[in-house]
Amino acid sequence: AAERQNQKDKADRATHEQVLDNRTRETLQKLVNRGYFEVIAGCISTGKEANVYLAHPGTDTPSEPFPYPAAVAVKIYRTSILNFRARQKYIEGEHRFAGGYSSSKNARKLVRLWAEKELRNLRRLVQGGVRAPIVIEQRSNVLVMEFLGRDGVASPRLRDADLSNSKLARLYGELLVTMRRMYHSCQLVHADLSDYNVLYHDSHVYIIDVGQSVEHDHPRAFDFLRTDIRNVEEFFSKRSGGEVRTLGLRRAWSFIVDESVGLAKEDEAGDEGEDRLLDVLREWLERPEEKSEATEVDDAVFFSSYIPRTLGEVYDPERDIDILKSGKGDQLIYAGITQLDISGKGAEDEATPEEKAEDE
Ligand code: ADP
Ligand code: MG
Repeated sequence: AAERQNQKDKADRATHEQVLDNRTRETLQKLVNRGYFEVIAGCISTGKEANVYLAHPGTDTPSEPFPYPAAVAVKIYRTSILNFRARQKYIEGEHRFAGGYSSSKNARKLVRLWAEKELRNLRRLVQGGVRAPIVIEQRSNVLVMEFLGRDGVASPRLRDADLSNSKLARLYGELLVTMRRMYHSCQLVHADLSDYNVLYHDSHVYIIDVGQSVEHDHPRAFDFLRTDIRNVEEFFSKRSGGEVRTLGLRRAWSFIVDESVGLAKEDEAGDEGEDRLLDVLREWLERPEEKSEATEVDDAVFFSSYIPRTLGEVYDPERDIDILKSGKGDQLIYAGITQLDISGKGAEDEATPEEKAEDE
């Protein structure tokens, strides 16, 4: 047993050393010096791109956020170059990262960007009324956020949570409303949404892991959203053995994206808004899917062929006006979306001068 423990220690050390290079250690030290946390109490997760640790704050915590969380999760992005290729597709085409970052060969810079992106996206989620960990601070490749859990035990991922079908049904509704809010209020598409990246916390679904999330006007936002929807639909129907009724890809898409689901915009905000949206969803679920000429196409075909693959395809105003004039407006799958912004605004997302200096 001692031998096995020894080997395990070695393995742990190896895992940690991979992520904790000297500069990461320095970063952690700075965060400790500023009171964000005092001790790392345990490892919550080791992943391909990041490790997540549980840490306890000391007595002298920063004044923000207030109240300071009783425990924090420290996400440390790996600085090895291995996974960057996979990340490129999320960063390319995003105006927030225009200006040469995407071709950067500087691994550390790219990782920092990734962490920074997660910080901003988490902030936007919370501001847009989506349940997500409160984000506290990001420095280089380290992100500090509220720990979702109790007594040092992290809340389970949706895939690991033991849930009755009636709970699953409720959470399905909540997650669809969440996806709608992410899209409309936060103007984000998660882009890696699945039962891995949703935590079941405090009887609700919480969204995590949003480093790769993109603006809803990202050239591939529709692709990513389609995959997100598919993952969610599949999880709930499989996990419940088909007992939980779901909307199906196509109607889920409408529920999330359509400008109006029968509610005025101001009626969608806040807790009451959530209840109203849930009522709408319930109605939709009780109503069998309408089979008009346009909807006869099976979900799968619809999803593989009818959604424009790039915004370039979406923004062909002349073609679309022709379609509208001929009275076939419902063929425009994105017809419910009027707020797409391809103007390249978003200067507020620039790195701060301080952060830039850190990289020089
Ligand atoms: P990645 O998938 O890139 O490794 P995630 O952000 O998904 O990183 O985090 C990995 C795991 O760590 C999650 O599946 C979750 O179990 C746990 N985790 C992440 N953030 C928190 C948090 N704020 N509170 C509790 N657990 C968390
Ligand atoms: Mg994850």
